[in-house]
Amino acid sequence: MEFKEFLIKYAEIGTKGKNRFIFEDALMKQIRISLKKIDGKFEVNKENGRIYVEALSEYDYDEVIEALSHVFGIVGISPMIRISDNGFEDLKNTVIEYIREMYSDKNFTFKVNARRARKNYPMESMEINAAVGEALLNEFPEMKVDVHNPEVLITIEIRKNINIYSMTLPGPGGMPVGTAGKAMLMLSGGIDSPVAGYMISKRGVMLNATYFHAPPYTSERAKQKVIDLAKKVAVYSGPIELNVVNFTEVQLHIYDKCPHEELTIIMKRVMYQIAEKLARESGCLGLVTGESIAQVSSQTLQSLAVIDEVCGLPVYRPVIAFDKQDIVDIAEKIDTYEISIQPYEDCCTTFVAKHPVTKPNFNAIKRSEAKLDRIEELVEAALASVEKIIVE
Ligand code: ATP
Ligand code: MG
Repeated sequence: MEFKEFLIKYAEIGTKGKNRFIFEDALMKQIRISLKKIDGKFEVNKENGRIYVEALSEYDYDEVIEALSHVFGIVGISPMIRISDNGFEDLKNTVIEYIREMYSDKNFTFKVNARRARKNYPMESMEINAAVGEALLNEFPEMKVDVHNPEVLITIEIRKNINIYSMTLPGPGGMPVGTAGKAMLMLSGGIDSPVAGYMISKRGVMLNATYFHAPPYTSERAKQKVIDLAKKVAVYSGPIELNVVNFTEVQLHIYDKCPHEELTIIMKRVMYQIAEKLARESGCLGLVTGESIAQVSSQTLQSLAVIDEVCGLPVYRPVIAFDKQDIVDIAEKIDTYEISIQPYEDCCTTFVAKHPVTKPNFNAIKRSEAKLDRIEELVEAALASVEKIIVE
């Protein structure tokens, strides 16, 4: 069956009252961006609180569904046919032909669900349901009516035109990107931070990212891995401006001056400070990390409290209460898992201590940091070293 139109279903947007159009327009914009990436000419229209995608040229069905299934804000995609109102006979015959083509095996239960947005249609919804249902039963005796739990729900929407569809493919949910500001994702090569970025972006947040690179302790391959991960997240979030910070000198300085069991905590505190500066410079309203309580020593509540203290922006940690397996499940869904498990070193693992503190003492950390006599100058140099990569 060849479809020319797709009905886009969205949920939460519908509750935004007077601002509803802002969300709808943002959703339409994101749909257009996603369809630009595939072959074909498409038009995205809004009509009475409904968004439609219309194909104006040949296109590949699977590609369209794939593209739309990455657009946050969409909860369902219904390929549909649209006819103009040429009387009930025409409508009835169109539904029969639609079912004939759509389902080669007619052994299923169904229900007709007519809805009139236009009340001047000469038949009431119940009458349409009954008449179309009867016509279908006459034409295809294998079909059976089940009004409570039908396998196929045939929807007929009487609007200016008439929409007919019976299939809704799932969208990713969430809110359209661009409706909730921008945040700075601290992106490492691990499993957790790309998932964290995906989750925050799903709520409509645009992303920038920061990666702390420590050449030659971390290789070019490790950096490429982070770029590859950013690409995967960008499929959903849209383009990401990735800041690659050369962190080597800072790390060596900390390694040199501070007790090694405190390295990870102090390093994280400096990372947060640098990420905050980059965030503020680019209009980001918060940081996003992949931390999860108790996963490692720096992610106990005590450690997180000490790390958090340096940052003046809110730090969002969407996977904070997730078990590793739950994070892995999402990583697999968004196709980052295979990249994340590639064995390239992370700057934090290179300088990690054998027995890191799990309950850092705030005053002790402060005392250790007081020994970092060159830290300001090195942080300045790290900020000056930033390489900006636009990842699409
Ligand atoms: P991930 O799987 O995301 O690497 P992790 O469980 O390995 O996380 P840590 O290495 O302790 O945890 O890092 C915690 C968080 O700090 C990461 O999720 C990420 O947001 C941030 N982070 C860690 N290392 C880096 C880095 N090199 N560059 C940017 N952010 C980092
Ligand atoms: Mg990591």
